[in-house]
Parts: sequence; C-alpha cells; structure tokens
Amino acid sequence: MIINCKCGKYQFDVKKSELGTGNREVQCGICNLKWIHGNKLNSKNFYFSRVLFFFVIFFGLSIIVLDYLQIFIITNIPSFQTYYLAKEQLIINIGQFYHLVKEVLILNIGPYLK
Ligand SMILES: [Zn+2]
Repeated sequence: MIINCKCGKYQFDVKKSELGTGNREVQCGICNLKWIHGNKLNSKNFYFSRVLFFFVIFFGLSIIVLDYLQIFIITNIPSFQTYYLAKEQLIINIGQFYHLVKEVLILNIGPYLK
C-alpha cells in the first residue's frame, strides 16, 4: 500500500501488515515529518462514540443527583418543582405508551400466535 508524506513530495510503499488497522504515528524517512496515519472514518466514529458515552454518563448522573437532592432542591429553589412534575408526568406517559403498545400488539399479533 502506498502512503503519501505530509510534505506532498514523497511516496512510500509500505506493507499493510506493518501499519495495522488502527491509527499509527509514522515518520517520513526523507524530510523527517511525523504524522498520524490511519483510517479517518474509524477515528471519527471512535471520537463520536466517546463523546456519546460521556454525554450519557453525564446525563444519567445529573438525573441521579437531582433525584437524590430532590427535597433539598425544592426547598431552596421552588421553581425546580416543575422539573420533578415534568419528570413524573414523563414516566407516567412512557408507562401508558408501553401499555398501549402491548395492548395493540396482543390484539393484532396474539391471534396469529395461537
Ligand atoms: Zn516528507
């Protein structure tokens, strides 16, 4: 496989097995420039999944902390009560949606399973 140097002047023929599948730092043997060679799509996906992972952790932790400090927060910041009411309503709505989907599935698919 052929690698282009970042300087744009030189090309090198390198065995694929020497590079591996991930990102790797390589150096031009002529101009001594160093750069990271690798699959750009892979590294982008990796970055995206890492950001998503941290966001989910942060989101989950925020909900847990807000639940844990509910009484303290409501007594000190009364306007936060809206958040807890909205969350409660959301949980009720999800529960109702779950039952609705279950009912529809049982009514429509159930007879065919017997
Ligand atoms: Zn070079």
